[in-house]
Amino acid sequence: MQKVEESIKDYLLENIRTIPDFPKPGIQFKDITTLLSNKKALQLTTFLLTEPYLEKEVDIVVGLESRGFLFGTNLAQNLNAGFVPVRKPGKLPANTISQEYELEYGTDTLEMHADAILPGSKVLIHDDLIATGGSAVAATKLVKALGGEVIGYSFIMELSFLEGRALLEKEAPIESILII
Ligand code: AMP
Repeated sequence: MQKVEESIKDYLLENIRTIPDFPKPGIQFKDITTLLSNKKALQLTTFLLTEPYLEKEVDIVVGLESRGFLFGTNLAQNLNAGFVPVRKPGKLPANTISQEYELEYGTDTLEMHADAILPGSKVLIHDDLIATGGSAVAATKLVKALGGEVIGYSFIMELSFLEGRALLEKEAPIESILII
């Protein structure tokens, strides 16, 4: 895992806003719009997401709806890779494959275009934040169903108390800039 200086972490944390009880009571929502609107924080975050993978072979960055799209395409460009969106049901226009996953109460589904990934592609899965890891696990299953190989996971922020890392680590290494 990359070492990010504490002062840089503090700077990025200062630029992520916590909104209590959004979208429902009890959730401390990590709002990255303030990170995006600060040009220095935007550049720094993009660099820190890219850096661990500069020497690695990455064919495709898969970004998870919706905040995984915000840095995901920049990350893909920096790594000379393509970008593939994973979306909520009914958003992608062509043929899709879908994967259900568990939420705290009930289930949700994620979709990917059925022709989005060529067999044997090396795939980096990116999202703004990992909480329980459920959506990243579902994305992993979608990538593997198309014959892709997940070579890593990339997050800006990891909520370590939810232990999502344990679900992903057996599949591929995880790089989170901020672990809180
Ligand atoms: P999970 O599947 O539980 O790992 O949840 C990760 C997804 O939910 C990511 O797409 C996050 O953007 C979103 N998410 C979960 N918890 C939070 C939170 N506290 N603040 C912001 N986004 C969150």
